[in-house]
Amino acid sequence: MATEKPAARLELVNERMLQFGGKWQYASAPESTEPVKLEKKYNLFINGKFVAPKSGRYYPTINPATEETLAEVADASDTDVDLAVRSARQAYEKYWRKLKPSERAKYIFRIARMIQERARELSILETMNGGKPIRMSRDDDIPLAAAHFFYYAGWADKLEYAFPGRNPQSLGVAGQIIPWNFPLLMAAWKIAPALACGNTVVLKPSETTPLTALELARIVQDADLPPGVVNIVTGFGATGAAIVNHPNVNKVAFTGSTEVGKIIQRAVAGTGKKLTLELGGKSANIIFNDAAIDQAVEGIINGIFYNQGHVCCAGSRLFVQEGVAEKVIRKLNDRIQTLRVGDPLDKNTDVGAINSKMQLDKITELVKAGKDEGCVPHQTRCTLPKKGFWFAPTVFTNVAMSNRIAQEEIFGPVLSVLTFRTPEEAVEKANNTPYGLAAGVWSDKGAKLFKIANKLRAGVVWGNTYNQFDPTSPFGGYKESGFGREGGVQGLLPYLSLE
Ligand code: ADP
Repeated sequence: MATEKPAARLELVNERMLQFGGKWQYASAPESTEPVKLEKKYNLFINGKFVAPKSGRYYPTINPATEETLAEVADASDTDVDLAVRSARQAYEKYWRKLKPSERAKYIFRIARMIQERARELSILETMNGGKPIRMSRDDDIPLAAAHFFYYAGWADKLEYAFPGRNPQSLGVAGQIIPWNFPLLMAAWKIAPALACGNTVVLKPSETTPLTALELARIVQDADLPPGVVNIVTGFGATGAAIVNHPNVNKVAFTGSTEVGKIIQRAVAGTGKKLTLELGGKSANIIFNDAAIDQAVEGIINGIFYNQGHVCCAGSRLFVQEGVAEKVIRKLNDRIQTLRVGDPLDKNTDVGAINSKMQLDKITELVKAGKDEGCVPHQTRCTLPKKGFWFAPTVFTNVAMSNRIAQEEIFGPVLSVLTFRTPEEAVEKANNTPYGLAAGVWSDKGAKLFKIANKLRAGVVWGNTYNQFDPTSPFGGYKESGFGREGGVQGLLPYLSLE
């Protein structure tokens, strides 16, 4: 084979790049939807069976990348929620609280293994219903969901070692309400510790992403859990409110918006129900002059764009020390041009679809506010699909702390870049938000990382990385990002009373 001179090869590369609009084009590599067997209609999972809702109501759940209807899903009424809570109560009194903890563990291990066995199907379904790239569902969401069940199964018969000298007791029925950004993973975060601690559950997935939770219901059935230990009811905010307000629910766990979190906190005040809230965020990444810049830029991209910014702890604010600001902004702008936006089922896609029209409208509105306030947008040049909900990754420069895009949660692929001079200024700016979920610090100096991390009012602080999750590590917020922890030994606490 004739060997080209390096210069000639480079020219060829440049020519091809230009041909494809400055971006390497991969051949399309769509994941097949064949493993997913969709039902036309999904009922409620109550007392170990799929039952038609007493409400008689169903609503369509769609694929946000194509707007096609995937299935009809039940919309549970107060009566349906009451049936679910009754079944959970009965299962709690009759079986689950009496079961030997090591037996409880076996059921939870079984769920974990079954999630692993059905990982491919679950990943595809997650992507179809939520719009996130298959790479994320396949490599992060589903394996982590299984890992949470494995991890908490291990705790079921060791609770007295987790809290030495105390007498950990289950609470009863846990009412759990989750959002659409990590549908199966959030269900695992909620259900696994609740079951391990001896509680039974009624879980409501988000109205826009109910399908993997309903598949989890099937797994629970196949794993032969006693009927009523896990109940899954689908519906909208009113269904969630019915769970929260049910007098027979002992514990409420909620992940979602700060706005709804506040409503829930008011609703449970004075009822004696135990509550955990994991709410919004406006997380900061801080890049110091001495950071490994390429690594930091990759971390920033991962933190805000790889999941359409649909992560409560998305690094949506970036603070760069002035000495490297120009370089970081240039690299960020170059890097966003290489992001692949499009079909979430394609294995090469980096940025998928926005989860719903409502969410897209919110992102569009805030980005317009950013432009109106004089911030300068830099966007990925790409052709967005005609159907479905899409937003091109956007980096804003010339941002001031007071701008709405630097203050409000956007929950989309939008990054605000600000600068700072001293570490003190970085900390002050990063903490200047009503939220406190997560943060990232990028520096070559370990001591500096620890020093800054200790000053940041955020539940999770990553050093020279971002968005890393592990079931053994607690996650949760400060301030308006909520309270209580999920994951780790700390994640057991919300589901126990320590006598
Ligand atoms: P997001 O912005 O993530 O959609 P929401 O807070 O609107 O956040 O929704 C999160 C979950 O809370 C969803 O399952 C939703 O149906 C549910 N929900 C919405 N309103 C209420 C409410 N008033 N009480 C209980 N749950 C609610």
